[in-house]
Amino acid sequence: MPVPTPETKHFWEGTAVGELRIQRCTSCEKFYFYPRPYCPLCNSGDVEWRVVSGKGTLASYNINYRPFPMFKTDEPQVIALVQLDEGVRLMSNIIGVDPLPENLPLGLRLKVEFEPRGDQFLPVFTPENTEGN
Ligand SMILES: [Zn+2]
Repeated sequence: MPVPTPETKHFWEGTAVGELRIQRCTSCEKFYFYPRPYCPLCNSGDVEWRVVSGKGTLASYNINYRPFPMFKTDEPQVIALVQLDEGVRLMSNIIGVDPLPENLPLGLRLKVEFEPRGDQFLPVFTPENTEGN
């Protein structure tokens, strides 16, 4: 699991209470990820934390068939790049669907959920409309 640092502490405190918190630059008004004390787009130090919708789309993914001991499962893991509606991309896992390409069209609408992993809650994503899965 990632270890919280001063830069990411607020992010992990958010996931523990069911909030996806992303930094936003108040100068150029763009969101960015991962957390940093300066905006990576315009170098401004005027940055803030926002609770975001946790909704987005599937931008890219990989199905990993090697077991991850830390996930305590032999099921294949979907490792995805999720494009949040706020414009940033996060690496995450997709849950709640069989890990088959036909279930994972690019552009699929996703919503965040938080899974306990060790001492932390990891943001994972599931299809926004789960009917039919
Ligand atoms: Zn900026």
